[in-house]
Amino acid sequence: MSVEKCLICGHVIAEVNFPGSALGRFDCPVCGAYSASEELAEDGIDPHMVPSTTRYMLQAWVKRRPIQGLPMPVLTNQTCADAIREVPHYVPADKMDQLLLAYAALCERPGRSCAQDSNLDYPYAFAAAWDECHVYQRWLGHGGFVEGSGTGITLTRAGWERAGQLQSIRPSSEKSTFVAMWFEDQMDDAWNHGIAPAISDTGFQPRRVKGESHPDRIDARVVAGIRTCKFLVADVTGARPAVYYEAGLGEGLGKSVIWCCRHDWENQLCFDTRQFQHVLWETPGDLRVKLRDTILARIPGLARQP
Ligand SMILES: [Zn+2]
Repeated sequence: MSVEKCLICGHVIAEVNFPGSALGRFDCPVCGAYSASEELAEDGIDPHMVPSTTRYMLQAWVKRRPIQGLPMPVLTNQTCADAIREVPHYVPADKMDQLLLAYAALCERPGRSCAQDSNLDYPYAFAAAWDECHVYQRWLGHGGFVEGSGTGITLTRAGWERAGQLQSIRPSSEKSTFVAMWFEDQMDDAWNHGIAPAISDTGFQPRRVKGESHPDRIDARVVAGIRTCKFLVADVTGARPAVYYEAGLGEGLGKSVIWCCRHDWENQLCFDTRQFQHVLWETPGDLRVKLRDTILARIPGLARQP
């Protein structure tokens, strides 16, 4: 481990090298967590591919991934350039809305608050710096959408209503997927190096949402994610009830469900799903290959993306 600067914003942080890997992991308090290729970590971001005036878009793209249920990215100059093309050019009113949506995701539900420090968290608003974000925070306060500041920001009723309207007009993507799986540290490798890249390999967007584990209190974001996805991946390793519930909801809505299970859990599968074929895997690398091939075989009309 060595002391490094964030490749995106220059903030001083600790970089952790993955053992046996050329990738370094960066945890920037401003930009969020990402890993970087050896080349990028050594030479920095190429200013011709990623001009300094667009860095704020890259910051927003990285920082917002966890609240969108997206995996930690591996940055190369090419992924940085692609990310910036993906980020919309928001006008200030849109940025205020995006900040409200970030607060809604961070609070998770009414009754909870989130901590925000505009010095560190301005990428949530697609802002170029803290002072721009501070303006959007004030607008949200004056508009009656949020209350509090610093460590205790909450959405008001009007704030939750507006967040709900904004979410409902967000176009459902033909490329979106939903992954139901056990949220346990030991499964992070399966997500980061197995399921998420397998889905990306086929041109779809991997997405998982940490929801309530009790079916009576299933998170609204989980239901919305299942409704709008093209297909589901359900990994039943750990035999979590929420995974079966989410997969069953998907089946009921007519979605294709691809079942996966780590081999050591094969004999503990819920009997109701034994009739379905499962992708049985041993390592994240093995899972990536088998799941990718299954998606290509099972999802109709799918052409591999260039
Ligand atoms: Zn940074």
